[in-house]
Amino acid sequence: MCINNKLSIREGFGMVAKHFVDECILCGECLKGCPVFLEPRFELVNKGPETVIEKVIDLLKGGPPSKEVYKLVYGCTKGCSHVCKSACPNGLALQSALVSAGHRLQAADEGLPPSAYQHMFNHHYSFGRVFGDLQIKESEAPWLKEVPSEPDAVDVVLFTSCAGQGFPHLVLDAIDILRRMKVNFTTVGARDLCCGCTTLTHSMPEVTARVSEKYITTMAKFGAKKVVSLCPGCAIFGNSFLPTFFSVPFESFLFTDFLADNLDKLPFTQPLNKVITMHDACTQGQLFGRWDVPRKLIKAIPGVTLVEMEHNMENTICCGYITNSNFPGAMDDRYYARLNEAQAVSAEVLTTTCLACQLAFCPRETQYPFECKHTITLVAEAMGIKHEDKLKKYLIIGDPDKVLDEARDYVEASDLSLSEFNHVLPSYFERMCVSPKK
Ligand code: SF4
Ligand code: SF4
Repeated sequence: MCINNKLSIREGFGMVAKHFVDECILCGECLKGCPVFLEPRFELVNKGPETVIEKVIDLLKGGPPSKEVYKLVYGCTKGCSHVCKSACPNGLALQSALVSAGHRLQAADEGLPPSAYQHMFNHHYSFGRVFGDLQIKESEAPWLKEVPSEPDAVDVVLFTSCAGQGFPHLVLDAIDILRRMKVNFTTVGARDLCCGCTTLTHSMPEVTARVSEKYITTMAKFGAKKVVSLCPGCAIFGNSFLPTFFSVPFESFLFTDFLADNLDKLPFTQPLNKVITMHDACTQGQLFGRWDVPRKLIKAIPGVTLVEMEHNMENTICCGYITNSNFPGAMDDRYYARLNEAQAVSAEVLTTTCLACQLAFCPRETQYPFECKHTITLVAEAMGIKHEDKLKKYLIIGDPDKVLDEARDYVEASDLSLSEFNHVLPSYFERMCVSPKK
């Protein structure tokens, strides 16, 4: 499927795979800083980078699947590509070759990791649906759940992102912030919408083609020049991936980058008086290397002292959340490595612009003398806007029975039944809640 006779996604990735096979010299440089390769529990590092890459090439050439390639494909964050791509002497994009490798794994009947459903926007038990329903009733959500065929035109569409639906407090913060900035906008939170990045990173090119096309045509109905999302994945995908395959009539922005680009419109009213440190999400680097942009925003908040962690900006370390979500527990050490760095600089708040990093850190703040807050929350607080972060509260409670009791009214209002919540919450909490501090 294509728009305006552009390449199909399958054709595009076929070409990427062929280029990779033709140009890779098997030097292994790309893997020497790769968090998945380096994690001892994956048992890739002991095989050596050249051997692992050789297995990737073998599979791309039609050879057999291997457990090494499986781990690399579904462990790959697809977000920290600045690490592997910039290390490659031929500038090859390993993470794109891994998308094709995943497709070959699936053709060989190697299934997705059991917990991959949590990323799938349209899955009955997706993260956005399960955690969104625990926190806000559909009748109370002030965003469009369905987009009319001819909606009113706006300047900006705020897209909750499929993952963002699990963070209703951030969506509500973002809506209030845009209102105070007097932006002409509407908010879209339809459950059947996703930019396509989650299906592509799980190597499903045909599904991605359908999902992305629907996303673009739906957003285009508003005539907006800017689509602003809560998830960095939508912004990266919207600017650097979708235009390769589709005609995209709007620019895509991460919400916090949009704020940083409009500092003069932010009506701050309350100094925060906090020492804040920033975990640079690897996705921020994919946003055209805009490491400095969230810093501009944080520094503009009155009463903030920004201190830097040992590893920052292009030297940041991936938090590991995306890998951990497919391979539970494998990357917990990384969570604590980042949290320990924040403690070392005596921060009062650790902030990040990425939803995944926030999930990695926020349940663990009880083990540290600082709070973990998404950057949107900080901006909102400095404008006197406050929406309860029930997600963090529930993850800190960490007990499905207690959470379901506390969220009883919301469970009753959900189209998921109590037995379905009982079925799925333990596996989420097992992956997301606190593990012993390292
Ligand atoms: S994107 Fe990150 S996890 Fe994936 S191969 Fe590159 S360095 Fe490794
Ligand atoms: S660094 Fe580049 S050339 Fe070397 S193994 Fe990795 S992809 Fe191949």
